[in-house]
Amino acid sequence: MEKEHVIEDEYLTDELDSASDNSSDSEGRPAIVRFREDEEMTKNFKFKVGMEFSSLKQFKSAILDHNVLNGKEVRFKKNDARRCRVVCKKKDKCKYLVLCSRVVRTTTFRIKTLFPKHKCGWAFWNKNAKADLVAKRVFDRMKNNKMQINDVVDDIKQRFSVEIPGTRAFKARKLARQLIEGDSSKQYFLLWSYSAEIKRASKGNNFKLDIETSGPGLQPRFGRYYICFDGCKKAINNACRPFIGLDGCHLKNQYGGILLIVVGKYPNDQYLPLAFGVVETESKDSWSWFMTLLMQDIGEKIWCFISDQQKVYII
Ligand SMILES: [Zn+2]
Repeated sequence: MEKEHVIEDEYLTDELDSASDNSSDSEGRPAIVRFREDEEMTKNFKFKVGMEFSSLKQFKSAILDHNVLNGKEVRFKKNDARRCRVVCKKKDKCKYLVLCSRVVRTTTFRIKTLFPKHKCGWAFWNKNAKADLVAKRVFDRMKNNKMQINDVVDDIKQRFSVEIPGTRAFKARKLARQLIEGDSSKQYFLLWSYSAEIKRASKGNNFKLDIETSGPGLQPRFGRYYICFDGCKKAINNACRPFIGLDGCHLKNQYGGILLIVVGKYPNDQYLPLAFGVVETESKDSWSWFMTLLMQDIGEKIWCFISDQQKVYII
């Protein structure tokens, strides 16, 4: 008998509304642990009897995720609004079983029965690796890299030893993109709060946000922004060489734009980030706007500028 199967017989019940709903340690019942969705699911995660979930959806997602990571394929039996029984797809060979049901008079769901050991082999073609699960796993990589459908298939195969068809990889890539782009659009809404927060932190911090209004009654749109921190201004004036490097790079999200960066140089040759901003494109107008704000912040004295720009913009 497996060690994990530690619950008492009377607690091993599929019955809803059973006496086990008010479990407590003093009566020898398993302690209640809340499942934390914000923690990344790992291969070695241990489900426990008494573990609670905010919804059945959360429970099912966690169970599928965990089984895919361990190369197992499961299915839901007795799957209704109040309970879910999870068994292994190779039921004849494998006694894996998890039952989660709603706690009486609450909206919480709790694991009541647990037999977590699989005896089956690795499921290479795992149908439990659905598109939403794959999207979660490639999300971080897709933030910084463009991934083709084959890259998604290869990545999942290499890291999790699971083969997925191209159609699922396509769907997963689409979902991951929606998550990433959805996130970046939300960030623009936070710019005013961010501005208030950095001004609260220090009055010397400078934050400028330009917005564009297309017409009366229309929502204003993001135009440009500029940030320079007080500490950086003091450092460039008091500790650095009068030498400033300027550059810009393209932002590769759905909104595009150019990130402008200015750095100073310490006497020991290390770089000091001085100011940065986002503008619609590199042009005389955008550089003039940016440099005017920068000169107001660092003071007009003799500075040496270095840039890769072929044109010299006279401000
Ligand atoms: Zn199994």
